Amino acid sequence: MGLSIAIEEVAKYSNAPALILLLTRLATGPLQIALTEDQKMRYLPGIANGSLSASFALSEPGAGSDAVGMRTVALPDPEINGGWVLDGVKCWISGIAQAGWFTVFVKTGPAVFRKHDSITAFVLDRDLPRVSIGWLDRKMGVHGVDTGELILDHLRVGKEAVIGEVGGFRLAMLSLSAMRPIVAARGLGLAEVALMYAVDNVKRREVFGKTIAAFQGIQWEISKLTMKIEAARLLRYRAAMMADNGQFGKSSVPQLSVAKYFATEIAVRASSLAVQLLGAQVIWKITLWRCFIGMPNS
Ligand SMILES: Cc1cc2nc3c(=O)[nH]c(=O)nc-3n(C[C@H](O)[C@H](O)[C@H](O)COP(=O)(O)OP(=O)(O)OC[C@H]3O[C@@H](n4cnc5c(N)ncnc54)[C@H](O)[C@@H]3O)c2cc1C
Repeated sequence: MGLSIAIEEVAKYSNAPALILLLTRLATGPLQIALTEDQKMRYLPGIANGSLSASFALSEPGAGSDAVGMRTVALPDPEINGGWVLDGVKCWISGIAQAGWFTVFVKTGPAVFRKHDSITAFVLDRDLPRVSIGWLDRKMGVHGVDTGELILDHLRVGKEAVIGEVGGFRLAMLSLSAMRPIVAARGLGLAEVALMYAVDNVKRREVFGKTIAAFQGIQWEISKLTMKIEAARLLRYRAAMMADNGQFGKSSVPQLSVAKYFATEIAVRASSLAVQLLGAQVIWKITLWRCFIGMPNS
């Protein structure tokens, strides 16, 4: 709950720092669920005190929505009892350039298997010799957080790198479910700021002899959006309370998903309305500065 409220507030000012906050939970989720106390003490305090960051590596060039289609594999190490040899490339990994460690999902069964229990989570330190960062994406937005490729080139690790149990793909799903109110919060913050820009402009700008806000059709649109933002906030609160109470298993997925879906849809709807209501001004950065820091209208 606390993190989701912080993210909502930060997202009103900038999407990138809101994502940085979100990442503190994304990579640590599986560890919080499955690591031993000793392992938690090794990886989590640095995230909590801000001295370290971490990334979550699930996606691959051929495996986004279809995560089970991943091709990165871990084969048993013939030389180390219980050890693994990892090979593959992960992509679109947020915060990759700054990460001190990674939560990485790989196939511990044959790469072509599509069973969930053929996938295992590993925690990998950034400074391991055969872990490297490849291509960094040139994105259209959110430039404050890098996304890019994580390359595992015949990386040998011991059994202590396994998070939870071998075949523990459910960790990814549990952790993504627990994240849903947090993603919802970011959508909510973005929706609120878009509405703020729109309202600020329609109250100031005059057309046909009165402010745009004086036209009832505009008031309806703003009222509907305000109502939806309020509804999204309440869905998010319920979802965050459930996640805090440890309710992020399969039976809680509908409530958690509804909160994420609704808030992110509202973010898109609010942005689109704000673009429309700002007219040509939307293209000028100065308009946005004015909204935020109260520059004079001249
Ligand atoms: C800015 C950014 C940051 C990211 N950060 C991370 C990260 O930190 N870690 C990480 O692991 N990944 C990350 N990702 C990857 C992200 O998780 C994937 O983009 C996401 O899972 C979707 O996969 P995809 O892009 O391959 O889309 P695809 O799976 O190719 O989907 C394309 C379209 O097809 C639709 N579609 C897919 N399956 C179906 C279906 N069965 N029926 C109907 N329609 C379908 C989708 O809804 C979508 O509209 C990031 C992506 C972005 C853009």
